[in-house]
Amino acid sequence: MARFELGVKKNLRQYGVPLLKDFSSPSFLYVDKKELWTTIMLRLSTVIPHSQFITWFRRSVIIDIDKGLIIVGLALPMALEWVNNHFRDHLLKTIQEFVPDIQELNLQVDAGLVNDDDPRHIAQDLFSQNPNKGRKKPREAQVMLAEGLTTKILDNSYTLGNFVIGSENRLAHAACLAVSGAPGRNYNPLFIYGNTGLGKTHQLQGTGNELLKKFPENLVIYTTSEAFANDYIESMGKRRMEQFNNRYRKVDLLIIDDIQFISGKNKTEEVFFHTFNALYDAGKQIIIASDRPPKELNELDKRLTGRFEMGMVCDIQFPELETRIAILQEKVRKYEAIIDPKVLEFIAMNVHHSIRELEGVLLQAIAESELEHSTPTVRSVERVLLKHSRHSKIIGGSPLLNDPKSNIASEEDLIDTVSNYFNVASDQVIGPSRKQEIAFTRQVAMYLMKRELNYSLEHIGEIFGGRNHTTAMHSINNIKSRLREDLSLRRDINALKKEMGFV
Ligand code: ADP
Ligand code: MG
Repeated sequence: MARFELGVKKNLRQYGVPLLKDFSSPSFLYVDKKELWTTIMLRLSTVIPHSQFITWFRRSVIIDIDKGLIIVGLALPMALEWVNNHFRDHLLKTIQEFVPDIQELNLQVDAGLVNDDDPRHIAQDLFSQNPNKGRKKPREAQVMLAEGLTTKILDNSYTLGNFVIGSENRLAHAACLAVSGAPGRNYNPLFIYGNTGLGKTHQLQGTGNELLKKFPENLVIYTTSEAFANDYIESMGKRRMEQFNNRYRKVDLLIIDDIQFISGKNKTEEVFFHTFNALYDAGKQIIIASDRPPKELNELDKRLTGRFEMGMVCDIQFPELETRIAILQEKVRKYEAIIDPKVLEFIAMNVHHSIRELEGVLLQAIAESELEHSTPTVRSVERVLLKHSRHSKIIGGSPLLNDPKSNIASEEDLIDTVSNYFNVASDQVIGPSRKQEIAFTRQVAMYLMKRELNYSLEHIGEIFGGRNHTTAMHSINNIKSRLREDLSLRRDINALKKEMGFV
């Protein structure tokens, strides 16, 4: 039987253990939770669809593991429900593959995990959109430190190339591009500010990646002001200030994200001020992101905010509709999904605060529809939006959902929805046309009317232009038999049923 002594943090690599080791072996008394979770996640990623994996497990961690019980932490209440309903068994089985004596899996929400910088997170490259490419970074994307250590590695899915440009972020993007080609020259420091979820981190990381592509020998540090503060505090405690200074002062590019969180930490601020000056005087590039402009960083020392204003200051605003649609298209490509442009437009119209939220709604719509073997529809996205309490008012949604009394579609709704779905006019569907796409749409509508509204064949015949009940029967049987083989028709029918509130 395996035994675990918890709370003792020892990295298995210190014992020379390769990553995919049998953690149940009695010789491994100490288990590093992150290491174990990385192994489990690697395996799980081969068991469940990749988009599901990214959406629901990206910020998961082991909170505790002891005596047959494993407690897994998830960032969002929504993920808790979803993982519990859909992946509990898969997850437990996968855990047991590595730790056979685990009998119980307990899922918990831990709000702290929303923060990407939470030290409990495992390396996020496992959750990149491309399961094969994502795991190993190309050499140049590694962030090297002076002593040959590697620090927080840049996420190479963030590039300047896949950042969609609109009038609201054009200046910041151009400045980033210029900096990546000629660091330490014209725009130093580069200071980017804007509300949360508008792409600051993406641009910062993209600039780091771009610079390393052009100058692979350069040293880059990407960090947040909080991580910087922690590093400083730790170095002080261990009397390693010299190493700390060496580390930060030898870089060619220092990227500090979310500088606003440095306020109130006076000593860290001072250390940062000196680091800044040393780099600046040596002609090294500094990029800083913040949620507000330098002038409004009231708690920071004026000497520091004054330095921030010496170079280039750009803001990022929430993008207008066209840019939002373009961003969604970019994300659809990234996640290799196929989604009706109408649905993308609908999402873009209804998200008004951040791109992170825009992406979140899209991902959830993809995840839900994949589980139900249908494609996302305006209706299914509308449900996703309604779950976010902010969206009490939906633009361009279906009247059915907004009115809870009429939850089930009427026959007119049904004909309209089916016609709309297949892009034909509903009066043609009930008319005499024998054109193939119209006849097919009619058959689907008849099938659904029989199956979901339980109308008699006679009644269906009447509704569709006074046709004979045997015509209705043939039509319905035709769809039934095609459904046995035709996967894409099955998806269409499922999507339609969802659209009309039948499932
Ligand atoms: P911030 O750091 O400003 O809070 P992030 O950089 O984390 O925001 O962006 C949130 C999400 O939105 C990321 O997934 C990012 O890729 C995406 N995003 C934001 N703006 C764009 C854009 N213009 N093009 C493509 N993706 C974007
Ligand atoms: Mg950020």
